[in-house]
This record gives sequence, C-alpha cells and structure tokens, in this order.
Amino acid sequence: SCVMELDKMDENDWKYHGEGNKSLVVSHVQHARVLRLLKYSTEDDENSHKTTEQAFRHIQNIVDYSKNVMKPLLGDKFVHNGEAVKLPLDFVRQLSLKVQLERPESRCDKVMDTFSGCALCLPNLTQLSSCCCFGQHRPPLCIEIKPKCGFLPSSRHVTKEVKSKVCRFCMHQHFKLASGKWKRLSRYCPLDLFSGNKQRMYLAIKHLIEEPQNNFKIFKGGECIYSCKDDADMLQDLDELAKHMRPYFLPSGSLGNGHQSSKVVLNELIQVLMSALLSSWDCPRTVEPRKTQIPDGRGTCEGSILHRDLLRNGNHCLPKDCVLAKILGTQMLDNLDIEGVNPLFRRVEQHLQDFPKERSRLQIDGPYNESFLEKMQNCPAEDDGSIEYAVGKIHQYRVAMTAKDCSIMIAIAPCGEDDGLDQNLEIRHTKTRFSYSVSILDLDPKPYDSIPHQSKLDSKILNNYLRSTQPNN
Ligand code: ATP
Ligand code: ZN
Ligand code: MG
Ligand code: MG
Repeated sequence: SCVMELDKMDENDWKYHGEGNKSLVVSHVQHARVLRLLKYSTEDDENSHKTTEQAFRHIQNIVDYSKNVMKPLLGDKFVHNGEAVKLPLDFVRQLSLKVQLERPESRCDKVMDTFSGCALCLPNLTQLSSCCCFGQHRPPLCIEIKPKCGFLPSSRHVTKEVKSKVCRFCMHQHFKLASGKWKRLSRYCPLDLFSGNKQRMYLAIKHLIEEPQNNFKIFKGGECIYSCKDDADMLQDLDELAKHMRPYFLPSGSLGNGHQSSKVVLNELIQVLMSALLSSWDCPRTVEPRKTQIPDGRGTCEGSILHRDLLRNGNHCLPKDCVLAKILGTQMLDNLDIEGVNPLFRRVEQHLQDFPKERSRLQIDGPYNESFLEKMQNCPAEDDGSIEYAVGKIHQYRVAMTAKDCSIMIAIAPCGEDDGLDQNLEIRHTKTRFSYSVSILDLDPKPYDSIPHQSKLDSKILNNYLRSTQPNN
C-alpha cells in the first residue's frame, strides 16, 4: 500500500518523471514510488472540471479495473494496481509549477489537474523492487516498450482486404507521417515483436531503438536517458546510448573500435530484452513451456520491412506464460474488430434510450468488479440478438484496447556471482548476471463512448494508407 504521510507532502521530495496523453507522473527522490496525476485539455470548458469526489471515483475506477479485470487476465506478477490518494491542494499546485519547466513542449496542450488533489500512487517500476545487488554500484536499467497491437484482424466484419494484410501500427505510421505527428516512419512492426521468432523479435527491438517515438524508453537509476527527441528532425545517437549501456553489457573493458563495439553493446541489450520478454515465470525451467500459437496468417504483416523469407520461416509462437503471450491473448479478445463492434454499440445505445436504468445493471461505466469480468468472459460466442451479447462484446473490445495500449517495463540490474537470487528472477547472459523484473503499466479502462470515434479513426487510417501507398488507385 501507499505509505505516505499525506499531511507532510513536500513538492521538493518529488520530481518530474514522464507523461502520456492522459496523465503526468512524478517520482519520489528517495523512495521507489510515483504519483500519477490526471491531465485535461486546456480547450475544455472551465466548468467541466471534476469535483474532488468525481476525480477520486475516476481514479478508484482505474484501480478497480487494473485489479479486478486486467490483473486476472495478464497475471498477478505483472500488474501493480496502485492506490487512489487525496493530496493537499497546496502540494499539488506547487508541484505543478515545479514540473512545468521539465515538460516537453509537444505535451503542453494539456495541463495537470490541480483542482481535485487526487492521484494514483504506484510503485516506481523503473526501480527494481527487490534489489539484491549490494556492492554493485551500477544503478538499475529499465526499458519501457509500448508494443501496440500484435495480430491482424480475421473478423468477417472487416470490409477492406488490406486490414488482413497490413497491421494497424504500420498503417497508423503513414497516417501520423501525413498529419505531421512524426517526421519519419518507424520500421518497428508489433507482429515481429509478438512473433516469438528470435530473428524477427531482434529486428523489432532494433527498430524500436532506432526510432523510439512513443514506443520505447530507457531509464537508468530511475532517470529517462533515452526516448524520442523533442526535435523530431534529430536522429538518435546510438553511440551515445551504447556509452551508457557499455558498463552493463561489456563490463570488463572490452575495448574495440567505437562503432563496432556500439553494435556489440546494443546487440547484448537486445538479447537480454528478448530473454525477459520470453521468460515463462510459472514453468519450472526443465519443462518445455507450452506455446501460444498465433492462428495462421494473423502473425505476419506486409507493412513490415522484413524479408518475406524471414517472415515465412517460422515457429510463430510464444512461451505460454511470458509477458508477450499474456498481452497478446488479452488483445485478441477483440475478435470482431471495430467494424463488428460498432453495430453492437448502436444496439446498446438504442437499448439504453429505451431503458436508461439498464446502464448500471449492464455495468457500462463500471463498477469494474468480478461481475464485470464475468459478463465479459461469459459472453455468448454467437450473436443471439441479445443485449447481453452486445454488451459482452463491447466489454471485450474495451479490455482488448487497454491491452493494445499498455507498456511493458523491464527492469534489470547486474549482480555479482554471490548474490542469492530467486532462480526465476535471473537472466544469465554471457559473462554478466542480471536480476530482473517485468511489469505491465498503463491499464486504464477505455471509455465506452469512444467507440464511434474509434470507428471513424479506423476508416481515416485505412483510407490514408490506401491513398499514400497506392496513389494511382
Ligand atoms: P498513454 O498516452 O500511453 O496512454 P498515459 O497518459 O496513460 O499514457 P502512463 O503511460 O501511465 O500515462 O504514464 C506515462 C509514463 O510515465 C509512462 O510511459 C512511463 O514512462 C511513466 N510511468 C507511469 N507509471 C509508472 C510507474 N509506476 N513507474 C515508473 N514509471 C511510470
Ligand atoms: Zn506491421
Ligand atoms: Mg502510456
Ligand atoms: Mg494510457
């Protein structure tokens, strides 16, 4: 639980840590703890501010959703649901002033909520929770990967053929380039990362490093040392990154010419990340873990730049309980695609117009408890025309959306030969021994009302892709 003395909060104990589209995160300077505060758009009406009670309810909903819905699906060991807290308003206002200078300009279209005083308190996942590494002076590394959707839709509701050939991320890249959000296409393809094929995974991570955008960050001792540059024209300095990584992966002063050894260092980093992403924590090491099979044709993307031979060669499967299998399995709850979900949304809207009181029985906006999970899991397999089917499918779609938007945090720390380690928490790699932990964060519920927007966005991305890749059609 969140042991903080709420009456003694001092903004000097906290510093800017990072932010996404919906929240801003500050970390404690000493304890391995963060506060996640909500943001809102400056274009929003002043009157639309939530009251303290509304904001607290909203954050409590996030906690309930992580704990009662996402945790059972993704696994206890990966999910830390955190705790909703009410902070002194004075502290929050001072904090907001203090972090403002550190914020990237591209995120300043939104401001931190300084009205409600509510926040989510979480463990700082860039720090290893059980650090055994006394006598080791290297601070822990943490690599954050936002993998996005790892499969192609195979729903019969999909109308455009290209959606079953090119993945959403690769199509979205073209849209972001056209809209000016990014200056260069990322060569990362999520289907390569989720393939379980070592060569494809290797290249996926390499492409994340080369063009991190919002999908890749590295923290050292809790500080972000590598992420997308605020100046989108700048190329990443891989030699600079390799300098940071060298003491971890080439410890014994293995010199070499600069460029060659940068390659070697980054290669080692990628190997360690692959081990963490593929490790099956529940299975004893001697037993060959069961595999998660991606159905035929749903595991390769024509948008990926990888050579066809490499795409074809393939045990496309993941060890059953590894973090990637857990996330992919949850993403695949979306088996109708937005094109199949949108008509069901209209069915539910009609039903709610006729019977407004049903909104709460059907748990459209929560509460996110065991019964929500049951409604989602016990949804009929075939459409029987019922409202239960429509709501169950929408719940599944929203849960899948959360899994398509989460981040994986891989914290690693080098440790000596003598440090006693839980076997499951250890990666042996060349000469260095690492202790590591893997977590999943950013598990907010996605709003029911955003389905029509998702539907429009889907056709925009698709039309843009067809236009930009087949200009003569
Ligand atoms: P998005 O735009 O991806 O939806 P968001 O606004 O929902 O993001 P988060 O992803 O939860 O916000 O947090 C923003 C960033 O803060 C993360 O990408 C991560 O780098 C950092 N962060 C969040 N929670 C933690 C944590 N518990 N420990 C360490 N870092 C964290
Ligand atoms: Zn792709
Ligand atoms: Mg995020
Ligand atoms: Mg989020």
